[in-house]
Amino acid sequence: AAEVRFERVWKCFGAGAVAVRDVSFTVPAGTLCTLLGPSGCGKTTTLRMIAGLEYPSEGRVLIGGRDVSGLPPAERDVSMVFQSYALFPHMTVLENVLYGLTVSRRPRREAEAAARAALEGVGLAGFEARLPSELSGGQQQRVAVARALVLEPSVLLFDEPLSNLDARLRRRMREEIRDLQQRLGLTVVYVTHDQAEALAISDKVIVMNRAVIAQEGSPRELYDAPVSEFVAGFVGEANLLPATLRGLDEQRAEVLLGEARVVLPRRGLADGAVRLALRPEAIALVPAGEPGAMLRGTVSKAAYLGGVFEYTVDTSAGELFVVAPSAGVAHRAGDQVGLRFGTHGTTLLPG
Ligand code: ADP
Ligand code: MG
Repeated sequence: AAEVRFERVWKCFGAGAVAVRDVSFTVPAGTLCTLLGPSGCGKTTTLRMIAGLEYPSEGRVLIGGRDVSGLPPAERDVSMVFQSYALFPHMTVLENVLYGLTVSRRPRREAEAAARAALEGVGLAGFEARLPSELSGGQQQRVAVARALVLEPSVLLFDEPLSNLDARLRRRMREEIRDLQQRLGLTVVYVTHDQAEALAISDKVIVMNRAVIAQEGSPRELYDAPVSEFVAGFVGEANLLPATLRGLDEQRAEVLLGEARVVLPRRGLADGAVRLALRPEAIALVPAGEPGAMLRGTVSKAAYLGGVFEYTVDTSAGELFVVAPSAGVAHRAGDQVGLRFGTHGTTLLPG
């Protein structure tokens, strides 16, 4: 496994079309890092520059400390699993996995043993003689992974590998990919636009927006301390409310939000207008008169979703979206409630 490093990388397609703008990051060897962001933000272009399918307009790409910026794919020791799997329909499963090895001209017997081992590694022993059309979507996905793995690459790349699968299978396959990565100690760079997928499997997530990195960090860091409205809203859901900050000292600030006054970590912000990002599940609804309630409000919408209730509550601070466990008290539209929240799931952002 090798480290992947971008140093001030740009990719421009013709005049004015900047797909990647001055991007720098490091993926430590043996870790799984996701590139997460909305469609068109530059994820695939970034991945293709690691693979050598695109070359940077500016900056350097390093793999295992070696500058590969100008090298073709075959000289990079990197394999990629595509969204479409790109299997050859007329070849058997074994031939599909062997394909990459035959190109690299290893002796047939040795190549075949490696291909069988790779198929076993993804749980497909016994499927060697089948055609791709005789496999389920999840099994085809595993063949594509085996074909990438058999080359023993020092970096494995995935571009939205699960987007053709249904929700239940997606969850299982993402666990399999994570498991494989950890078992073999692989360096994986994984592209997705699905924030739940990114949080579930990553050591590190790099959030991209409009060709630049919006924030990078562990799943917890991104969810608990987003640095911008974009990240707060893209990684999970957040209520964004206008508020007023009054610094108490270097670390803490009093925040005025409707009739509520709360003390929160200051995050280097100056006195004045700020915004508060509030996670829907970090807000508790309590009886209207309860002394601990910070805000009072009226439930305007209530929905039962099985595991949780979703509420919309009108307050003096604005409209709040609240997710509450369905084991708790059920509220109905029109109910007067109190709202409580703490420092967890609450982040101050610039105004
Ligand atoms: P993502 O994978 O995040 O959806 P892409 O990396 O595919 O985004 O694309 C980023 C931007 O670069 C988009 O605006 C896209 O239209 C543009 N782009 C990507 N590839 C090319 C290309 N070969 N020629 C011109 N523009 C491209
Ligand atoms: Mg893409």
